[in-house]
Amino acid sequence: MASRLEHTTANNDQQPIEDRRLTKAYGLLHHLHYGQDKISYEVIRKDKSRKLRIKVHPDQRVVVTVPMQVTDEFIHNSVKKRARWIWQHVQDFAKQKSDVLPRRYVSGETQFYLGRRYVLKVIIDPEQVAGVKLIRGKLTVTLTHDDSNASDGSNRATKIKSLLDGWYQTKAKTIFAERLAAVLPQANWVNGSPTFKILSMKKQWGSCSTQGNLVLNPHLVKAPKECIDYVILHELCHIAEYNHSDRFWRLLTQVMPHWREVKTQLDSMAELYLNE
Ligand SMILES: [Zn+2]
Repeated sequence: MASRLEHTTANNDQQPIEDRRLTKAYGLLHHLHYGQDKISYEVIRKDKSRKLRIKVHPDQRVVVTVPMQVTDEFIHNSVKKRARWIWQHVQDFAKQKSDVLPRRYVSGETQFYLGRRYVLKVIIDPEQVAGVKLIRGKLTVTLTHDDSNASDGSNRATKIKSLLDGWYQTKAKTIFAERLAAVLPQANWVNGSPTFKILSMKKQWGSCSTQGNLVLNPHLVKAPKECIDYVILHELCHIAEYNHSDRFWRLLTQVMPHWREVKTQLDSMAELYLNE
């Protein structure tokens, strides 16, 4: 999931360019037996890497980044030494994925907002106005009448989903404007205040056009503020560096030194935030 959710820059709003070096691993696939299981890992050789690094991605890919001159045997032995740790992480990510059930939009389901979990509560009350409110830790959706004429309640689910979508869109507009204003002083290479547009996307949290206009995914409002700041700063860095060059990552590290941790946190929750 992580790689599919990397941010991409866009030469215009319709045509995102993916940075292949960073969003996808194009290494050779190697294998290792661990008990009954087989661990497959990709090896990426990089001029600039000084030591061997193993990373397990949320989509369960295992990527080993090594300096150019390291031997296959050394890589194999290093992976073998950490096999238990790798295996555990792959299991954890696999479990997380199976935990993502299709939404039914019924009371008791979990909804996310700013990194917190809220319980969904559906009320049918003809005396009230239909809408969504955050009341006492519950995300309460009020319907004025029971739309469940289909036996599986699908009409009701559609209605609840559309009310929730509207609520998230409104919150996203406010929160993103607030976070953009908060992080903008750090991005001193940006003149004026960039505009942003909200667009529901399956594979991106945000993008930035050559004109410096941002596009942000409304589902991002489900994530903690720090994750929102990361995506906004990432896109703002594209105003200075319209690519994923070393200069781009240096700039991002300058304005958010711990961006990798924040990104990992966001990636690990992506399936849940995008589940609808
Ligand atoms: Zn980017």
